Amino acid sequence: FVKHAGKNGYELFVKSMNVVAKRRLELESHLRHAIELNELSLNYQPQVEVTSGRIIGVEALLRWNSQELGFVSPVEFIPVAEETGLISPIGEWVLREACQQARVWQEQGLPRIRVAVNLSVRQFAKQNLEKLVSQVLLDTGLPVNCLELEITENMLMDDVEGSVETLHRLKALGVQLAIDDFGTGYSSLSYLKRFPIDRLKVDRSFITHVTTDPGDASVTQAIIAVAHNLGLSVTAEGVEEKSQLEFLRELHCEEIQGYLFSRPLKADDLAQLLDSNNGYIRV
Ligand code: C2E
Ligand code: MG
Ligand code: MG
Ligand code: MG
Repeated sequence: FVKHAGKNGYELFVKSMNVVAKRRLELESHLRHAIELNELSLNYQPQVEVTSGRIIGVEALLRWNSQELGFVSPVEFIPVAEETGLISPIGEWVLREACQQARVWQEQGLPRIRVAVNLSVRQFAKQNLEKLVSQVLLDTGLPVNCLELEITENMLMDDVEGSVETLHRLKALGVQLAIDDFGTGYSSLSYLKRFPIDRLKVDRSFITHVTTDPGDASVTQAIIAVAHNLGLSVTAEGVEEKSQLEFLRELHCEEIQGYLFSRPLKADDLAQLLDSNNGYIRV
């Protein structure tokens, strides 16, 4: 780009780099105070059992409404949090808040559901992750089997031996483990059987065109087949259409998460949804 565009192109390039760098610095400096300023919150997206239409879990999704910057997407600020180490306090806040909230729903007498929390690379690589998890479960009183941790493929493949050990330590606590965004990373199927996991989450990028693109259909079908052969359950992400649900039902995909059923909701709205139909959802 620089070569072909000549001097003007180069200046343009430097300018856009400056814009990126400036935004990044801005995000970092405000993110640093997001917790104390109460700017973080969690939304919860239902995960629905295909055969019954019952909400059996929710995924906790982080939201940042900054006083200075307004609403910032996690796709933008999570990488910044990762690079700066801010993900440690933020990730711990997410874990605690999600477990606390799930416990509150239980105390309200709502149908018992699982809560899934996304882990970041740094959190997963930390020495005493399982200590933190068990402490949070103890503090909040959430039953261990109600917590699920989501880890991406690439996080596992960075250091396979280390990952196998970490997963075993987490599994020993009794929490559930899922691989998130499955199919987009570079995981080798041969390693899959070594990971003590419960579930694969098929990435939304395959689901979007699953009924129209034969390639995406094949990949989805293959992932589900491998998962089932290994005794794993499958959640499809990003299901927006009825036809996608029907396609996945044919393949015996266990769970669906997507706008078809519900967008991520505030805790109170999720409680209302759980309450309104005894935890069952209608499409
Ligand atoms: P993810 O873990 O794969 O979460 C699923 C994302 O897909 C969420 O985006 C969700 O809102 C979106 N989604 C769900 N159903 C549909 C659908 O039917 N259609 C479409 N178009 N989108 C759908 P969100 O909330 O923006 O989060 C983006 C990513 O940010 C997450 O992807 C996750 O990687 C990361 N993230 C969010 N919260 C946390 C967190 O607490 N910790 C960490 N480490 N990462 C987080
Ligand atoms: Mg996730
Ligand atoms: Mg995902
Ligand atoms: Mg995804």
